[in-house]
Amino acid sequence: MIEVKDLHKSYGKSGKKNALNGISFTVEDGEIFGVIGPDGAGKSTLFRILASLILPDSGSAIMNRYDIVKDYRKIRQIIGYMPGKFSLYQDLSVEENLKFFATLFGTTIEENYHLIKDIYQQIEPFKNRRAGALSGGMKQKLALSCALIHKPEILILDEPTTGVDPVSRKEFWDMLARLKEQGITILLSTAYMDEAGRCDRIALIREGKFIASDTPKGIIDKFTESLWAVEGSRMSAILHELRNHEGIKRSFAFGDKIHITVDDDLQIDELKQYLLDKEFSDVKIASIEPTVEDCFMALTSK
Ligand code: ADP
Repeated sequence: MIEVKDLHKSYGKSGKKNALNGISFTVEDGEIFGVIGPDGAGKSTLFRILASLILPDSGSAIMNRYDIVKDYRKIRQIIGYMPGKFSLYQDLSVEENLKFFATLFGTTIEENYHLIKDIYQQIEPFKNRRAGALSGGMKQKLALSCALIHKPEILILDEPTTGVDPVSRKEFWDMLARLKEQGITILLSTAYMDEAGRCDRIALIREGKFIASDTPKGIIDKFTESLWAVEGSRMSAILHELRNHEGIKRSFAFGDKIHITVDDDLQIDELKQYLLDKEFSDVKIASIEPTVEDCFMALTSK
């Protein structure tokens, strides 16, 4: 179990914006907990503190009974940490990297092979290739194998899917689901809001603070406003017009559509006519269910 209480962290001089502004949460054993938020929100800072790599200014965290400051040696044995940037030795081969991490923790690849088998088998045909010459998805599999080789109780994965292609991302999430089945607690961060649904619980982070924390469904259920998706051929001009409409509370580009939150008394046909009057003739508008990203936008605009 992970228990985090009121963590604060600032880098350098006073007066600068704090990286963490009082973060508290718990993660149950065997749970997948996702910290979701944009760049600069404080995700890496939080994870570096929990991995005992940097100290918090104040606050505390206990990971499976051990204190991240007092028991830092023990912490490093029981966690597997995968940093945001690829951190393995580029000039060592795949197998040499894995051997290195196993040796560091006083174990061998053979001893814990069962733990990484699923993942490592996919890169094993390339075990003599330099790590630096692997594709993004393969690098990520090697990094996860290295983080797992000492049989950690808790995995801390900092943006493990950033820059990884959609197929490898899906495979990666399938692997995490299997690790969860083996009882490993997983704390991870992501900037991809569509990954929220693969977590048991999520926290939305912004400017060093959690602005919401719940199951993905719990977060979505709290969104009670009317939400529509707008499509058309001149999206940026449409967005501009929508922002001038007083019945629209919020609007933002969402893939190839615009999501808008509207006053309850506005009707779809009424808005279509408004856009038609502005010479947008091919516009489609439909009522939609919110996603976690819609919830994030709603929470941050308050
Ligand atoms: P995220 O992982 O969500 O992108 P970070 O934890 O990396 O966020 O950053 C949070 C804030 O702290 C940002 O404003 C960032 O610029 C700042 N920051 C992060 N690392 C350092 C550092 N080593 N020195 C100074 N500022 C930092």
